[in-house]
Amino acid sequence: MPSSVLRTMERPERMFGVVVVGVGRAGSVRIRDLQSPQLLPSPLKLIGFVSRRELGNINEAKQISLQDALSSTEVDVAYICSENVSHETYIRQFLDAGKHVLVEYPMALSLASAQELWKKAEEKGKILHEEHIELLTEEFAFLKNEVSGKQLLEGTLHFTGGPLEKDRFGFLAFSSIARLSWLVSLFGELAFISATMEEQKENQYQKVTVNLETVDKRPLTWIEERGPGMKRERHINFLFESGRLESIPPPAQGNKNIFLRDQDIFVKKLLGQMSSEDLAKEKKRILHCLGIADEIQKYCQHPKKEGPLGGAEGTM
Ligand code: NAD
Repeated sequence: MPSSVLRTMERPERMFGVVVVGVGRAGSVRIRDLQSPQLLPSPLKLIGFVSRRELGNINEAKQISLQDALSSTEVDVAYICSENVSHETYIRQFLDAGKHVLVEYPMALSLASAQELWKKAEEKGKILHEEHIELLTEEFAFLKNEVSGKQLLEGTLHFTGGPLEKDRFGFLAFSSIARLSWLVSLFGELAFISATMEEQKENQYQKVTVNLETVDKRPLTWIEERGPGMKRERHINFLFESGRLESIPPPAQGNKNIFLRDQDIFVKKLLGQMSSEDLAKEKKRILHCLGIADEIQKYCQHPKKEGPLGGAEGTM
């Protein structure tokens, strides 16, 4: 690590006041992490949290109104940890108020909205960071290592888990964007070919099967299946020229501190310590994944319009 970076970390030159918006599972972890002593002095200081419920104080953190969070000069940063349908509005409000934003994925529920939000952040000179803890897990590190240097012939990623309400978390391809993010990070940009959606509203059951293609025209299938009592599991079947990969070992360390590691990436951006190449690469990947999710949603909502809507590259 360059000594200039070390120096900045040893003594933060400036502090950033943070407000956490939405105190569900993700928001609670964010508050806990902001309140925990860090190994390295952190430039982040928790000012308070915003919730639609009356929660009072959480340890030392106080509840503040959205209006106060937006107007307070103490607040430099907003963490948006609410359900997905509210992300876009909160991001816009905080960017307009001149705050940096960290948002739990997905930042928006359409490619067009994400592009507009990103443009706004750039115009305002603010950081817009979309959390992607799935890329910080031991399982992903294992896969990245396994896939490296191999030629994919075909593959499937099948995820199962509990139901996600569409009204709060949006269309499945957006709420489960973490799977697309894995596939794109492992195999490069993907073209959307087709998708099928099965839904039993009364049973809270949903399954989407998505046919994708790598740049080398290799087929990749993503299946996302959600319903009550379904275990959170990932099943893979990747056929390479050199052999087949069919399982991922369980995480040895239990994926501790992945939100904290995501926060470290955000801090690097705040302090101008991430290269413009890395920032551009990340933005391209995020918009590419949101573009595919957008195509899946449109295709599933208009099944009569047969045939692919064009490669995901065309939407970037
Ligand atoms: P959650 O359902 O726990 O919370 C979502 C929202 O509901 C929050 O704003 C919370 O304040 C509110 N809420 C929770 N309980 C409530 C109650 N009893 N009454 C009224 N409001 C209540 O969802 P989450 O898992 O924290 O997800 C939030 C965001 O984080 C989503 O964008 C999600 O995609 C993202 N995310 C979550 C995780 C995770 O591990 N939980 C991982 C990655 C990304």
